[in-house]
Amino acid sequence: MADKECIFCKIANGEIPSATIYENSDFRVILDVAPANRGHALIIPKEHFKDIFDIDAVTAGKLFSLATEVARAMKSVLHCDGMNIVQNNGIIAGQTVFHFHLHLIPRYEGDHVDLHWAQGETVPTELQELAKEIRKKI
Ligand code: 5GP
Ligand code: ZN
Repeated sequence: MADKECIFCKIANGEIPSATIYENSDFRVILDVAPANRGHALIIPKEHFKDIFDIDAVTAGKLFSLATEVARAMKSVLHCDGMNIVQNNGIIAGQTVFHFHLHLIPRYEGDHVDLHWAQGETVPTELQELAKEIRKKI
């Protein structure tokens, strides 16, 4: 169901124009209006899902399958040297539009896109214990 207040519902369903690079019955793929780099694209489901905790596995699977095709098409046109796939969930994680979307961010040698984080430390037994806790829920 579309959310009346949601900008990505409007974009995905064509009510608001966008630089669309692909569309099918489930998704619209657009160029980001404020790109991190040249060719930064977004894959947006036409149905309103808030985030990774809300989207169903079948739609998410189709979305990522489409991402492989879009990524290859982008690479052939943009001649990028790499690509980051980013997907933000929640304000703390940098989500600003609360309609699930996948970022495809082309990377070019010498660019200044910053998606870096400092590597933390772990205690092996704690890591195993945590893995066990999460595993029980899957
Ligand atoms: P988030 O921070 O939620 O992961 O990403 C939202 C993205 O949507 C940002 O990269 C932002 O530039 C992009 N964006 C927001 N509004 C619009 C819009 O109206 N059109 C397009 N093409 N991109 C948008
Ligand atoms: Zn929406």
